[in-house]
Amino acid sequence: MRNPTPIMVHPDYGPPGLSDTDPMNATAASSPAPAALPDWAVELKGLTKTYNASGKAAPKHALKGIDLNIPRGSFFGLLGPNGAGKSTMINILAGLVIKSSGAARIWGYDIDERPRQSRAAIGVVPQELILDPFFTPRELLDLQAGLYGVPRAERRTDQLLEAVGLADKANAYARTLSGGMRRRLMVAKALVHWPPVLVLDEPTAGVDIELRQSLWAYVRELNRNGTTVLLTTHYLEEAQELCDTIAIINNGEVAACEPTPKLLGRMDQKELWLTLDRDLGEIPAGLAAYQTELPEPRRLMVRYQPSRNNINQVLAAVHEAGLVITDLSTRETDLEDIFLQLVQARRP
Ligand code: ADP
Ligand code: MG
Repeated sequence: MRNPTPIMVHPDYGPPGLSDTDPMNATAASSPAPAALPDWAVELKGLTKTYNASGKAAPKHALKGIDLNIPRGSFFGLLGPNGAGKSTMINILAGLVIKSSGAARIWGYDIDERPRQSRAAIGVVPQELILDPFFTPRELLDLQAGLYGVPRAERRTDQLLEAVGLADKANAYARTLSGGMRRRLMVAKALVHWPPVLVLDEPTAGVDIELRQSLWAYVRELNRNGTTVLLTTHYLEEAQELCDTIAIINNGEVAACEPTPKLLGRMDQKELWLTLDRDLGEIPAGLAAYQTELPEPRRLMVRYQPSRNNINQVLAAVHEAGLVITDLSTRETDLEDIFLQLVQARRP
């Protein structure tokens, strides 16, 4: 990871709690009047990234023209399978990867034209945990605050350590921290300059469930107080629970970007997998109302929409068709199914 160049805390915002209208817009009396708050916390236009060929590896088109607007104040989920391009996108915003073409704005600041302002507006917790093992959490946060030009009086090292549950580890060497603790330390590190946009790249990897809950509680609170949160994950459940808007990115392209309830509406589908007591020649007429598959003579799949039929109705239809079930399981539509649906829908 590149060392961040010193960046001043932008006068448009400051520590949460200084203003009751928009905590990210807190200004000292002497600061210049802040520019109007941007509608979009992050704006991407035609963003592409091609990693150069190396050795035998061909050039990799990791981003193929991303257009995405992340509303100010949202809790935004960027969802996609491994290799989709999520980290590439995040790292471009963080200044760790150089884009190939297109434009990106953070808090209204173009990353090329206003690199200092745009980088001061964002705090990124990268997917890869990189910590100097010989620093303590307190030293690390102080150092980071120094890099961002946060005046000593405005540093809140202890408050941040408290917030991420590391107060009792303030003076422990980073190498003695567990994976979950390191992750939370990285979150604190991303927040030292009180950025209005917080980006978390796959933050729950290696974090145990209890700590995950406290991490989410804290991030939610930040979001309630006005911080825009951008979260990448390949866990649909996580995005579903936390995010108000979800963009699905697949193979370097945005496949969907919708309010979460709308996206979930696409998932109104469940599969009932039945094992039968005898071979089935054909699918009984009584199940014509459902999508069915018979991959093996004794294995029947019935697909239904939970919003229209409950499982009792489906089972009743199976029963009325005279089928005898020896085993059954259900399968929810998952992210992969949505991907497949989206990708297929886009084919001519
Ligand atoms: P995600 O975070 O969604 O898993 P990434 O952005 O890490 O996806 O990767 C997108 C694609 O770009 C993958 O095919 C990955 O192998 C490739 N890639 C990522 N970083 C590099 C790199 N430094 N050099 C070459 N290819 C890369
Ligand atoms: Mg990634």
